[in-house]
Amino acid sequence: MSAAREIFLRYLAPTSTAPLMLEIESAEGSIITDTSGKKYIDLISGISVSSLGHNHTEIKKAIIRQLDKHAHVMVYGEFIQAPQNNLAELLCSLLPSTLNSCYFVNSGTEAIEGALKLARRFTGRYEIMAFRNAYHGSTAGALSLMSNSYFKDAFRPLVPGIKWIDFGNASHLKLITENTAAIVTEFVQAEAGALTAEDSFFAALKKRCDETGTLLIADEIQTGMRRTGKLFAFEHYGTVPDVLVLAKAFGGGMPLGAFIAGRKIMQTLSENPPLGHITTFGGHPVCCAAAEASLKIISAISEKEIYERENLIRQMLVHPSIINISGKGLLLGIEFENTEICQQVIKQCILNGIITDWFLFAPKKLRIAPPLNISLHEIQTACKIILSSVNTVTSKT
Ligand code: PMP
Repeated sequence: MSAAREIFLRYLAPTSTAPLMLEIESAEGSIITDTSGKKYIDLISGISVSSLGHNHTEIKKAIIRQLDKHAHVMVYGEFIQAPQNNLAELLCSLLPSTLNSCYFVNSGTEAIEGALKLARRFTGRYEIMAFRNAYHGSTAGALSLMSNSYFKDAFRPLVPGIKWIDFGNASHLKLITENTAAIVTEFVQAEAGALTAEDSFFAALKKRCDETGTLLIADEIQTGMRRTGKLFAFEHYGTVPDVLVLAKAFGGGMPLGAFIAGRKIMQTLSENPPLGHITTFGGHPVCCAAAEASLKIISAISEKEIYERENLIRQMLVHPSIINISGKGLLLGIEFENTEICQQVIKQCILNGIITDWFLFAPKKLRIAPPLNISLHEIQTACKIILSSVNTVTSKT
């Protein structure tokens, strides 16, 4: 075992008993290189983070420019810092006019926590609803939104007052009532296996929220930043959420999250009590500088480029063992007959130089969420390798 592996296993806290343990040397574009010099095509972008590929020149320049001026100077919300101002102004210019106040935090789960607190504070209600099989984060509030008891029972008691309904099932929407502060949704359920719902579902959801005075919170942590083709997935459905939650690709590879709402709603976190939500590092200037550079580039990518890549993947990944491809844009779930085949294919892909994985609640689906600017040639190479990996696995079983 290499010295690096020994240190990793000895000193770094594990998250599972079977980490991938690739020893990373460098990463550029869609290619990750390990310390032995082996190259991998990255089909998952660090789980929907590196959407412009690794080591992007413009993002790197923005980081260095900001570091030369200053890094942390004060907790969030006190000093005027140009990178936060610039990012908030650009983001709001790309959003519907009702989403005009940005609260910057450090991660996805924190952004969800902030959105939940905001909904309770604004509505004065405590009940929150979420959809079954969604993942919204690992801190206590966000974990409480998870319907899957296997991953949360060991950590009870969690936040009370959470109810679940089925994603895409319009008949469940009547369970949203005048007691519901907010319902948290994704527009493509990522960890459920890149699941989509009927177009009409989201309009019905928003209508029910408006009838009951319930805030619609959109978790676009995975689906935002053009991952599904549109800059934000809610744009596919003409449904504007009351609170938008971003993280992952939003930071351009740096840790940054945000929840965005209308000024009137957001204002409530600053009064009665003041300091209703505070964070030391939220909106770190270096992260905001990276995010602004990244957002400028991502917002200029055409939807067409994403669908061209999606179509190529859908056309190429045809195999008797692939029973379905779910998802939208470059958030795709390749479904196999069973978990065993999928897990074997993922292992074989990594051996063959393709980085992929499965979804938390869909272990029989292989995840495809590459950098948005992956070349068509890289996609062709990756799909050929996936197909040959499937052949290797299925010829053994
Ligand atoms: N929501 C969704 C949809 C996610 O995919 C994730 C992360 N996988 C989160 C929330 C939590 O984000 P973070 O890991 O940055 O806390």
